[in-house]
Amino acid sequence: MTAISSTIGYPYIGENREWKRALEAFWAGKTEEDELLKVTKEIRLSRIQKQKDAGIDLIPVGDFTLYDRMLDTAVMFGMIPKRYNWNGEHVSLSTYFSMARGNKETVACEMTKWFDTNYHYIVPEYEGHNLQLTANKPLQDYREAKEELDVKGKPVLIGPYTFIKLSKGYEHTDIPAFILQLLPLYEKVLLELQEEGVEWVQLEEPVLSTSISKEEMKIVEQIYAQLRKAVPELKIFLQTYFDSVDWYEETVSLPVDGIGLDFVHGLDKNVENLKTHGFPSDKILGAGVIDGRNIWRSNLQEKVNLLNDINGNLKTDAIWIQPSCSLQHVPVTLASEQKLDTTIKAALAFADEKLVEVSTLMKAINGGVETITDAIEKSVRACENLAQLPARNRTDVLDAVQSIANSDAKRTSAFTERRLKQEEAFNLPILPTTTIGSFPQTPEVRATRTKWRKKEITDKQYSDFIHEEIKQWVAIQEEIGLDVFVHGEFERTDMVEYFGEKLAGYVFTEKAWVVSYGSRCVKPPVIYGDIAFVEPMTVDESVYAQSLTDKPMKGMLTGPVTMLNWSFVRDDIPLKDVTYQIALALRKEIEALEAAGIHMIQVDEPALREGLPLKKEEWNEYLDWAVNAFRISTATVKDTTQIHTHMCYCDFNHFIDAISALDADVISIETSRSHGELVHAFNTFHYDKGIGLGVYDIHSPRVPEVNEMVEIIEKGLEVLDVKQFWINPDCGLKTRKHEETIAALKNMFTATKQVREQL
Ligand code: GLN
Ligand code: ZN
Repeated sequence: MTAISSTIGYPYIGENREWKRALEAFWAGKTEEDELLKVTKEIRLSRIQKQKDAGIDLIPVGDFTLYDRMLDTAVMFGMIPKRYNWNGEHVSLSTYFSMARGNKETVACEMTKWFDTNYHYIVPEYEGHNLQLTANKPLQDYREAKEELDVKGKPVLIGPYTFIKLSKGYEHTDIPAFILQLLPLYEKVLLELQEEGVEWVQLEEPVLSTSISKEEMKIVEQIYAQLRKAVPELKIFLQTYFDSVDWYEETVSLPVDGIGLDFVHGLDKNVENLKTHGFPSDKILGAGVIDGRNIWRSNLQEKVNLLNDINGNLKTDAIWIQPSCSLQHVPVTLASEQKLDTTIKAALAFADEKLVEVSTLMKAINGGVETITDAIEKSVRACENLAQLPARNRTDVLDAVQSIANSDAKRTSAFTERRLKQEEAFNLPILPTTTIGSFPQTPEVRATRTKWRKKEITDKQYSDFIHEEIKQWVAIQEEIGLDVFVHGEFERTDMVEYFGEKLAGYVFTEKAWVVSYGSRCVKPPVIYGDIAFVEPMTVDESVYAQSLTDKPMKGMLTGPVTMLNWSFVRDDIPLKDVTYQIALALRKEIEALEAAGIHMIQVDEPALREGLPLKKEEWNEYLDWAVNAFRISTATVKDTTQIHTHMCYCDFNHFIDAISALDADVISIETSRSHGELVHAFNTFHYDKGIGLGVYDIHSPRVPEVNEMVEIIEKGLEVLDVKQFWINPDCGLKTRKHEETIAALKNMFTATKQVREQL
């Protein structure tokens, strides 16, 4: 058995986010196109060099992007919506970035989540137009790597079925027409690669790891049969990731030369399939054994065992050792982390460290496991040291999670009863107005926080400053006339980081950035230990804010599922257990708020939906514990304490019963951009609890007019009982400017008043 080391994709942001800076400088008009292309070329090549130096045999080319790879693919095929007035020739950077970000006249293409990751891709729009090949990006990148670095790379492309499936603008019945247009272009790209002498090309079909129908699988078979005919000599490697493949036998029988499977996220099922159905002797297996989505170091002994197990079921004489998916989902290098605890740092592996893991495992197969004894020992020790950390073995936390009873997730009384008590306690007007939590974080707020972190000002000076901000915004809310207030979240940089820093079990990195969308990078905190409450986290600000007004002040927390989904999470215990730990810690905070006189508490869960597994049959299990975690954190309050929740999206159609099962007294959701669908969803379900429809789109600097908002409210009233209805913006106002926020909220209040008067 020969092993070859391979990667599926590598981060493109640079060790210090040079990519982001280059792009943003260009967008801001501070640099010219030449400069952008020069800097990005350096980054592109240095990544290839790095992989070569780390001993990777098959290095991807074409995985670098100036914004997003789905967008690159759409542009390559000339799938440019008419509204961009493209002249049909060379696609300029200005057209490309207009599609990504919009321009003065034209809105951007939609952006949505890449499977169950936190990465967002640009959704290609098919308008039935004539497609054409505008460039051959994988070929360009292949040539560049060959000329500049003497590396014969592995061109990578999003596969045709995944591309079609993730595009929009066509009816299901139009799929054949779309495919007929698209396939010849794929063929052309592949043919040019074949003519160039490329050996392997990688076509990524993560859609095969989702729940697809038999009919869809048939289409996939037809597509690949046709591609095979077009390029008989080019070796096609079909790469799946993020889960096991449902149609295993069909997938491994496709007329391609190699198949990549995920042996981390789809481990059990893929291994089982391999054992039951075998693997064709004329194909190469790509064994994705190193986790491309999480940051933990591998126990190399376990990986060697897994590879032996896999190899034992192969009749082929070659195998590719690779990460489970593109490494773009993990940060670039651990080398930049100077402040991490040594035990934790030794147990982590970012992209660069994962390259070494891949090439080390390759050596074990090619030269015998004894050639890597040292590396195995080191990795085992690092994993054991992490496992033994007291912070990871807290019996108090374990006991608390184990003793969670059903009754812990249940409010004392049913909603119908609570509602009456709450109506009496709060005595709110019809269509109560409120906001989602944060108010504008001005440069002054951020600068003051930085000073405090650098210890240039004292704790007292910082907290006085925050109190001043709160006071100013309580007065503003008072003046506008809102019914339920918030303190404004001035003390928080980020809704997960703020709580993570105050809970036990989290650590923070210095430079562990990953792309979220476009040039926006996030630095997810790391859950390495048992999560536990240490001391009240929000009580001071909420109580201070409440002391300034007679209006109810909403306490404001981030929910357990969002705390989980926006972090890198330990992988030694089930996600459910981690979430329950967080839920119990948050429950203590909620109880502390209640005891301190806060009687409305909002627990945000904007990331509830993104944790949904790829396979439909696993949805219920996820939703069960996710919903339960929310309930565990909120259920112990009195009937008269009103629990709110917030989610900033609206396609609830598939799981509205789960939303209802949260048993929150009030939910606020996005609607200003797509209210039609949403209201429909709630209508069919007979949702009986409070709903705040976001009537003000906070993603835009525009101040909405009074009548626009009146219209949205009236639309909502067509299907919802007026008694259920709350009026609020779409989401938090953190990124908005002071003046526009006040103007928009005033309009929102006026719109509400107008509707109230008509009732
Ligand atoms: N309470 C948070 C805020 O107002 C909610 C943010 C979110 O939903 N993403 O900023
Ligand atoms: Zn939101």
